[in-house]
Amino acid sequence: MPTRYSAEQLIKNAGYNIGFSEVGIADITPSARSRTTFDRWIKQGKHGDMRYLSGGSDKRHDPSLLLDDAKSAICVAVNYYSQESRNKNGWREQNGQGVFSNYAYDRDYHLVLKEMLDELAGRLRDFFPGIKTRACVDTQPISERDLAIKSGIAWLGKNTCVISQEYGSWIFLGELLTNLQLESDQPLESLCGSCTRCMDACPTDALHEAYVLDATKCISYLTIEKRGDIAAEFHEQIGNNIFGCDECQRVCPFNSAARETQIFTHDFCSPLLEMTLEDLQEVSDVEFLAHTRDSAIRRCKADGIRRNAGIVLQNLRSQDT
Ligand code: SF4
Ligand code: SF4
Repeated sequence: MPTRYSAEQLIKNAGYNIGFSEVGIADITPSARSRTTFDRWIKQGKHGDMRYLSGGSDKRHDPSLLLDDAKSAICVAVNYYSQESRNKNGWREQNGQGVFSNYAYDRDYHLVLKEMLDELAGRLRDFFPGIKTRACVDTQPISERDLAIKSGIAWLGKNTCVISQEYGSWIFLGELLTNLQLESDQPLESLCGSCTRCMDACPTDALHEAYVLDATKCISYLTIEKRGDIAAEFHEQIGNNIFGCDECQRVCPFNSAARETQIFTHDFCSPLLEMTLEDLQEVSDVEFLAHTRDSAIRRCKADGIRRNAGIVLQNLRSQDT
């Protein structure tokens, strides 16, 4: 191993070289404070039907249970901001077609980040033969936001998104757990100050309390995670959001200088993004599956996209009358 760089610097250089926008290191000691906050949120039922969040509680707060002998987490973020997806949404909006969350306009980020983390793990094995690693991208029970904050790659906004100093909140997170004992970076404190733009802009008051998301009211949750009917009281506020909602990020001043992603370059685009609301309302299960291969849109299921298209169509028609 070269001696010119510390282990931490070698890892960060490798991460930036692969294309990660941010790379930091966090210790994985469980935090009693985060656990209490999370458990209270679950107890209050603010996670809605996302039952997977209430399971695996010990692992979520103690990553060493996910990798034998784990000592550190290499935390990464990838910028996904894209003017092209905004333009496409702008076109859809102008043509009465309802909008998709910006991250839907490319290949499923779970796949992209997993490949990048696997590449990082491969490079680390060259530097540190015999090391153990485990890549995590929002699929294992792990507290990604807490680790990202601890590793200094982002801080927590009142909209509950993590915000990078360089890239704002248009970022995806991932972690590589390792048995290497690494020196941690300094955690970041929130920089929201007296700003409340995201809370004021939220159409459903899902951010009634700063830093606490009531997922049961959030349009992202309702249109993507919620199964079955969406309560009628939310239909109007859903407006033209057919998949997700970006409003609390769109208004955040830390996103005003967002930079174009170099990783999510629209080489892949689900055909669903080209379909009209009428066609989406009628899309068959088979068509939906075929059109969401490698797409994050698959998460809302065929029933969900048909349901959402119906609500958006109704909203747009009532605007016209
Ligand atoms: S995603 Fe939309 S509905 Fe959810 S908290 Fe943000 S602004 Fe509110
Ligand atoms: S909009 Fe304001 S309060 Fe909300 S996350 Fe951004 S800086 Fe913080």
